[in-house]
Amino acid sequence: MHRIEIKKGEQVLSEYETGNCAYIVETGRVSLTDRISNQPRYSVGPGEMFGEYGIIEEAQHYSTAIADEDSLLVVVTQSEIEEKSAAADPVLSLFLNFFMDRCHSLTIRHYGTDEQLEEFSSRRHRREDRIQQSRDEIVQQFQIKGELQRALENNEFILHYQPIISLRGGYTSGFEALIRWQHPTRGLLSPFHFIDIAEQTNMIIPIGEWVFREACIRVNDFNERALKRNSPEVFISVNVSANQFAVPDLVDQFKQISKETNVDISKIELEITESVLMEDADNSKRMLDELKEFGFRLVLDDFGTGYSSLSYLHKFPIDKLKIDRSFTHAMLNDQDSLEIVRAISGLSHNMNIEIVAEGIETMEQLSLYRDLDCHYGQGFLIAKPLPVDEVYKILGTRMKF
Ligand code: C2E
Ligand code: CA
Ligand code: CA
Repeated sequence: MHRIEIKKGEQVLSEYETGNCAYIVETGRVSLTDRISNQPRYSVGPGEMFGEYGIIEEAQHYSTAIADEDSLLVVVTQSEIEEKSAAADPVLSLFLNFFMDRCHSLTIRHYGTDEQLEEFSSRRHRREDRIQQSRDEIVQQFQIKGELQRALENNEFILHYQPIISLRGGYTSGFEALIRWQHPTRGLLSPFHFIDIAEQTNMIIPIGEWVFREACIRVNDFNERALKRNSPEVFISVNVSANQFAVPDLVDQFKQISKETNVDISKIELEITESVLMEDADNSKRMLDELKEFGFRLVLDDFGTGYSSLSYLHKFPIDKLKIDRSFTHAMLNDQDSLEIVRAISGLSHNMNIEIVAEGIETMEQLSLYRDLDCHYGQGFLIAKPLPVDEVYKILGTRMKF
């Protein structure tokens, strides 16, 4: 979305033009002469929209718009609406898709010339396969959303916990909570099979809430057991997706669940990705500051794969960085990757940010991270993500290097 300024008397769009955007009046007024409203001439002001046919693929405008005053207009393009529609709830997306098509067809039949109607029909005929395909996709999403909803109700999700050890002493310092779906017919499914679709259908919001609550309950349980064995306390880190940050009351929700579960907040870490910092940075900063102030520790996941620089990080209250596992895999053979890891670890020491090295699969990788004085390590060499029973067995154990 972007804004344009229009001077009094200027024409914004004209009838019969094919557009690719609609306009929302932010300030000022715009006069419209059109064939659909039954009013020969009317005007729209702040918060009202015109030129909406520009959003419909290949539709023509039915009005001419001229500014009555100097005006500021927000321009919404067809591709932006398509993108938002694809990311919206599938029912909303299907509704919008149908409604726009119906509107276009009714208008053409009513107001269009015979020639326009004929062209519309033949274009639609050509596009039929694509229209059907996109409707099938939406229906499929709709079905998967229903399945995820049912899975949540039936308690089919479980968390596995992957140990994170101190690279200084070898002790298990904490665990990353990783979701699995115990599917009634397909067996145990990794997030690869359902996380993207949960994001697309916004089911990640209730699922994320479940994950958070479950992790709070579990960290109490782990630490009660650790206490009985005289072993060090542990934290659990929870992945929080960018979509969850779009929920305005996320912070309140987390605070509420923390109170209900009586969790020691300092034992919960929230893993976020760089996309959270990049999109709507002001809003993210506000939410992260609030979470940090409440007592959660914040971890930046998959660091190095996005675009944020270490200096940019300075603005956010980040406690830990997780170096993405692609660096762990590449650094022994690729000098550039090694230099990046070296630079990240050097600078973060200066910035008082701790480092977690992800995806450690070999002793060489682990040794290199120890030489670079990274704080924590996680990976298949140390342990795979484990079900709760297995975690009980290893609480308080120490890896010998
Ligand atoms: P992630 O946050 O980067 O989690 C680490 C992933 O790396 C896990 O995959 C883990 O099993 C895998 N991994 C750990 N050590 C190694 C290693 O040494 N080598 C290799 N090749 N892989 C290793 P998993 O459990 O399949 O999770 C995949 C992704 O799904 C996670 O990536 C995370 O982005 C997402 N995810 C998992 N649980 C949740 C959740 O509760 N909420 C949200 N929003 N996302 C989740
Ligand atoms: Ca993670
Ligand atoms: Ca990661």
